[in-house]
Amino acid sequence: MNYNKKTVEDIAVSGKKVLVRCDFNVPMDGQTITDDKRIVAALPTIKYLIDNNAKVILCSHLGRPKGEFNPKYTLAPIAARLSELLGKPVPLAADVIGGDARAKAAALKDGDVMLIENVRFHKEEEKNDPEFSKQLASLAEIYVNDAFGTAHRAHSSTAGVADYLPAVCGYLIQKEIKIMGDALAEPKRPFVAILGGAKVSDKIGVINNLLDKVDTLIIGGAMAYTFFRALGNSIGISLCEEDKLDVAREIMAKAEEKKVALLLPVDNIIGREYKEDTVFMRIYSDSIPAGWMGLDIGDKTQELYAKTLIGAGTVVWNGPMGVSEWSNFAGGTASVAHAVAESGAVSIIGGGDSAAAVEKLGYADKMTHISTGGGASLEFLEGLELPGIACLQDK
Ligand code: AMP
Repeated sequence: MNYNKKTVEDIAVSGKKVLVRCDFNVPMDGQTITDDKRIVAALPTIKYLIDNNAKVILCSHLGRPKGEFNPKYTLAPIAARLSELLGKPVPLAADVIGGDARAKAAALKDGDVMLIENVRFHKEEEKNDPEFSKQLASLAEIYVNDAFGTAHRAHSSTAGVADYLPAVCGYLIQKEIKIMGDALAEPKRPFVAILGGAKVSDKIGVINNLLDKVDTLIIGGAMAYTFFRALGNSIGISLCEEDKLDVAREIMAKAEEKKVALLLPVDNIIGREYKEDTVFMRIYSDSIPAGWMGLDIGDKTQELYAKTLIGAGTVVWNGPMGVSEWSNFAGGTASVAHAVAESGAVSIIGGGDSAAAVEKLGYADKMTHISTGGGASLEFLEGLELPGIACLQDK
């Protein structure tokens, strides 16, 4: 797949109506935005288009309105926040492809910005319906995709519109594919991947792709116990995917064949039950006693992983080392976050829980790149073609 895509700078935008797909799917508490990071992340592309006299038509989804208008999911709070951040009015059309969107788009002057309503108010959006894509495209003359978080979805606003308009990427997508693409193509070595989280099944594709590229693969989280079980260790009542034991064995065999060091926890923090305030203790073993479950990596493992990370050239991390939402089991994830931050390596955090942990612990500035898309970054690291990127013009 070619990740060398044309950007907003490679197309003449002056005086043109430009439809920009952003990811404004921000966390909300009622009508209040609780974290505007995604809106702020979209600003460089929007500002470039304004400064270069485009007529900017922004679009996004928010939540899951299930294909019909629902005031709970209106983009009105987003329009208000954008207006504050840009220091200029950002009118919101009352519809997506209807009369108000068309009238407001027709009234735009060079350098103006507007927002159309939540694209998921139409059920055709997620079906990538060609007629809906065509209607959406007819609002503009150029399409810019800057929503990395939804680039792994083939929807009308993320991919379908590109059938009808010249399509390029914004700065956010450009940055995501440049940093992750370079890391995969020409990593500074040693290249270390850290994979955690709950399920092997979610990450088989990434593990398989990364085993062809990395020098070391670090495993943590509940995923480790499926590997323990595949090795014949006792795992007590730890989370385990019984139907993935063969997959775990294949992964270990491939690692050996490729001479990739595969590191599993050597000690664990275990609890009596899957509860925040459960009784817990450390065990200096890679076997979990009957009636206990592994909920985090132990101190020795933290040390081992930190030592491995300090010398790394490139680090890719996806998934927590334990139940990091609960303070008693957050130590492993915090320790890995610290080690990655201090490693001096090119560090890429693949969205989701690991990104949240890094931000909460205050290490965000020390990372080379925190992906804005959890699912999208995983699919990217799997080597899959992302429809929202494949549809853009090659350089
Ligand atoms: P994922 O979405 O696959 O990255 O998994 C993230 C989830 O894995 C988080 O909600 C963690 O609480 C959970 N998790 C991590 N380690 C464990 C564990 N040892 N036991 C149960 N859940 C875990």
